[in-house]
Amino acid sequence: MERILSAIKPTGKLTLGNYIGALSHFKDFQDQGESFIFIADLHALTLPIEPEDLRNNSRDIAAFYLASGLDPKKTTMFLQSSVSAHAELNAIVQNYLYMGELKRMTQFKDKCSKMADTAIGMGIFAYPVLMAADILLYEATEVPVGEDQAQHVELCRDLVRRFNHRYGEILKMPKAVVPKVGARIMSLTDPSKKMSKSDQKGDIFLLDDPKTMRKKIMSAKTDMGPTVTDDPVGKPGIHNLLNIYASLDGTTIEEAAKRFEGFRYGEFKKAVADKLDEVMIPFRARYDQIIADKSYIEVLRQGAERAREVANKTLRKVQEAVGLLLI
Ligand code: ATP
Ligand code: MG
Repeated sequence: MERILSAIKPTGKLTLGNYIGALSHFKDFQDQGESFIFIADLHALTLPIEPEDLRNNSRDIAAFYLASGLDPKKTTMFLQSSVSAHAELNAIVQNYLYMGELKRMTQFKDKCSKMADTAIGMGIFAYPVLMAADILLYEATEVPVGEDQAQHVELCRDLVRRFNHRYGEILKMPKAVVPKVGARIMSLTDPSKKMSKSDQKGDIFLLDDPKTMRKKIMSAKTDMGPTVTDDPVGKPGIHNLLNIYASLDGTTIEEAAKRFEGFRYGEFKKAVADKLDEVMIPFRARYDQIIADKSYIEVLRQGAERAREVANKTLRKVQEAVGLLLI
């Protein structure tokens, strides 16, 4: 049976990119295998964040998980910091990944290329190490991620090969699963940049009200030429909107492009905004309810218990393999 693991880090307000690339798929995973979905709060400390924001963002993600249809009976949902095995396995596996490898990671380069060495914390550099520990603890076979995180899963696979070569078949080999549509939603004001929750401009936030969302779609940057055709290179803005529409509608970009071929941009954007309303209004209502009744707290508590059981087993196996005395 497949073991599926995924997470979102509480670094900011969730965006439409997080919904399309991650949240909207989580519900399906719980029917495909055993699924572990967590809130990567330790990862959120890798860039400066106010304690109150971190707490609120973490609560939000828990409520969004439940609003997107995660069923606590089928999915183990928990906070990363509630399971100390993440930090403990991190301390071991960091010795099997190398500086050169970490320096090459696109996310590290994107986030830190303009920062002075003295401002870059160890945590952001070593981010993929902790992420590898997250994946390996649960012996995950499938790791659903947007395109931006696929490289980190590849690095984790290298680590598994290296570690198992030395100690025997101890770690389970994971594989990244990148959705075919919506793996990379771009910023609405600059379609050459990924929509990210830690980079506020040009994003649609899941907590925006419907009017604000519509306004952002209607003023999204478009391209030369008055009507819709799908051209990822020549018309990146339109391509991004087609991707958003297709993801929300559950169809392919080709299908969406066919449907809107020849539409004027204004008409097309209106259709995208309508589709967004259709999906987001009920989703937001479920979120509001869960935040109000705080049902996520008990779910996280029970999830942490189950997660600890699974994680501690793997941790022991690794500790034993590398020669730590278990007494
Ligand atoms: P940050 O700026 O803090 O890195 P983020 O928006 O990139 O925030 P993550 O917590 O890194 O969000 O990722 C959570 C999940 O959302 C991951 O599966 C990631 O691949 C996915 N994701 C993030 N941004 C996008 C996007 N623009 N399009 C599709 N998927 C995305
Ligand atoms: Mg990211």
